[in-house]
Amino acid sequence: MISSTGGSGHPSRSRASRLTVRLAVLATTVALGAVGVAVSATPSSAAACNGYVGLTFDDGPTGSTGALLNVLRANNVRATMFNVGQNVQGNPSAARAQVDAGMWIGNHSWNHAHMTSMGQSQMQSDLSQTNSAIQSATGVRPQLFRPPYGETNSTLQSVASSLGMRQVIWDVDSQDWNGASVSQIVSNAGRLQNGQVILMHDGIQNTRDAIGQIMANLNSRGLCPGMISPSTGRAVAPDGTPPTNPPTTPPTGTPTTPPAGGTCTATATYPNVWGDRYNTSVTVQGGSNWTVVVALTAPQKVNTTWNGTPSWDSSGYVMTMRSNGSGNTFGFTTMMNGNSGARPQIRSCTTG
Ligand SMILES: [Zn+2]
Repeated sequence: MISSTGGSGHPSRSRASRLTVRLAVLATTVALGAVGVAVSATPSSAAACNGYVGLTFDDGPTGSTGALLNVLRANNVRATMFNVGQNVQGNPSAARAQVDAGMWIGNHSWNHAHMTSMGQSQMQSDLSQTNSAIQSATGVRPQLFRPPYGETNSTLQSVASSLGMRQVIWDVDSQDWNGASVSQIVSNAGRLQNGQVILMHDGIQNTRDAIGQIMANLNSRGLCPGMISPSTGRAVAPDGTPPTNPPTTPPTGTPTTPPAGGTCTATATYPNVWGDRYNTSVTVQGGSNWTVVVALTAPQKVNTTWNGTPSWDSSGYVMTMRSNGSGNTFGFTTMMNGNSGARPQIRSCTTG
């Protein structure tokens, strides 16, 4: 197996080790539980994409591909779907829906076999048959190939290459195939760095439920979902250009266009969460005459604010909050409207 993380994914093939998995889950939950609770941002740090990551979903299409696409669309996410050929043949309209929703399509073999035990000609026919099914359903010819379980060898790589596909494994394993909780999936995704790729799966509820928080974390670090370059196998901007400002550490907050006034830091916490709504408390450091811009994820909506004067853009999802003499902490209540996972993104904090 070729995997730095030791995992390889197919949920239906990992039941045997469920007990071991549960124990591992218990052991890691405490350490990982706090990730995603607080969001901190400085001016313009999240307004632009300082880097790109590749979100990938394997083993589809499935019966819940539509639900996955709805969540991805709601969070403005474009991702790469590594489809299984026989699933595409059995549900071509779901594969087409993936492309219609802006997703990129990769080849994940015909029926998820252990391909390293195949001979070259068998590999060739397996991948060719899969490409034909995908092309017939979507009109798109895959340029990326992910071997099932991440298992590969030089013969398989050269077969994929001869069919015009770049092999892509992953940098971060979400462990969703292994029974990971929503918070564990969010924590694992929190390790993603510029250019990296994460393994997730179609057909898993916890994965769908994690996407809002994954995006909030990526946004807070200036990382955006990108495409996987067929030439390098790394995540790049959706149009294929590499990031111009690849950070190796989280954004420092240096704005490309300095604001008229000074800069400040806004930190969000979520002191109250109910079934249908939650409170956000934002504390500003670095000045008293502040302006903080906060973006929501649709269909969430703010219905109450305090200790600040809000105004809204035309979309109704971007709030500009200005100090009103009530101090340096303001708050608001957000109605979830069916999206319980997303949290507001602080876009900027300026003073003066
Ligand atoms: Zn798989």
